[in-house]
Amino acid sequence: MTGNPYPLGLRLAGRRVVVVGGGAVATRRVPALLDAGADVLLVSPELTPALRAHVDAGRLRWEPRRFVPADLDGAWLVQAAVDDRAAAAAVSAAAAERRIFCVRADDRTAATAWTPAVTRHGPVTVAVLGGGDPHRAMTVRDAVRDLLGARKGPLLTPPVEQGPPADTGGERVTGRVALVGAGPGDPELITVKGWRLLTEADVVVADRLVPGLLLDELRPDVELVDASKIPYGPSRAQEEINRILVDRALAGKVVVRLKGGDPYVFGRGGEELLACAEAGVPVTVVPGVTSAIAVPAVAGVPVTHRAVAHEFTVVSGHVAPDSPDSLVRWEALAALRGTLVILMGLKNLAAISAALVAHGRAADTPAAVVQEGTTSGQRLLRSTLGAVAQDVVAAGLRPPAVVVVGDVVNALTL
Ligand code: SAH
Repeated sequence: MTGNPYPLGLRLAGRRVVVVGGGAVATRRVPALLDAGADVLLVSPELTPALRAHVDAGRLRWEPRRFVPADLDGAWLVQAAVDDRAAAAAVSAAAAERRIFCVRADDRTAATAWTPAVTRHGPVTVAVLGGGDPHRAMTVRDAVRDLLGARKGPLLTPPVEQGPPADTGGERVTGRVALVGAGPGDPELITVKGWRLLTEADVVVADRLVPGLLLDELRPDVELVDASKIPYGPSRAQEEINRILVDRALAGKVVVRLKGGDPYVFGRGGEELLACAEAGVPVTVVPGVTSAIAVPAVAGVPVTHRAVAHEFTVVSGHVAPDSPDSLVRWEALAALRGTLVILMGLKNLAAISAALVAHGRAADTPAAVVQEGTTSGQRLLRSTLGAVAQDVVAAGLRPPAVVVVGDVVNALTL
């Protein structure tokens, strides 16, 4: 075949795509077709377990037999994912008769369409054709992926809207807000999606616990609001943060609200979501790696362990157990056998451990405290429920710290 390939982005949602073959090639091709929303018909006497899982989940239709030309009736595209040249040629011929493009795994030169090597970054898809050489395509694709994935700023940034809301034919340009979990401290523990949104932001509103190195890498023109420096009491400060998020978004800005750990674990993310929703500002939530699980993990404490703990409970220690404001039933927690993870617990640790022991949790239950987990300042203290509050004071541990109570504390110590 001569001539250069003509690239297209096929919009396959709801459109029939036939895949002939149920082996390794089909297993690799089917997920992208499903992701595109295609109505996939798989024709093959045999299936790999991964393909069978798609069938069982109802994501595609399977005809457990060999291909017949009528399988292509109503199809927009066909993938001949079989090694057998004669079988693939039969699929090709039936496709050509119906003017349907046919991708062939067995022989690229005989195919009417080629699948590119692909890398996806949020809304951006980069597809590379290697002039008939799939290895060349993959090499170039890998280089592009590295470039887009490199923490090098705004390659993927949409054009920045400048100034006040523009009136574009009656449609007001509004920005948007993303509530992004930054992870527990190590800047590499933000999610890929969170990182991408950060590189796209015009405004970043960051918490005290957000890894500083993430902020270090922002473009110089990004407006950085340090939410921990807002000079009011906690509830006024929250109103002020909500106001900043809404105002900037209504001014057309892309706003990232960056929070330590996960936005919804003691992060007041829900309040910010409601404030944005009330103002008609679109909001996305990007979950984060929460310190409740990650900080014990990096200190060698799994929150569950076979035959040791079949549950873990995460609780805030911010409000003292005897306070009328407490929403936590410490006596109920004391009756549990599993792992207890206490965040914001250092200040009230003496009262908390005393309450747990008073309500029946054994004083010799192992306990650990991890300060500044996942950072270079990480410190670990092992103790028992009865002694942990004193030991923390003696060791001079400071917040932020996670307290873990339960037999899992020693599960990995040999
Ligand atoms: N949304 C956060 C938690 C916010 S509450 C998350 O999902 O992780 C703040 C508390 O989290 C701190 O008081 C401390 O108990 C805990 N914390 C957060 N980061 C921590 C870290 N790196 N090391 C130890 N504790 C941490």
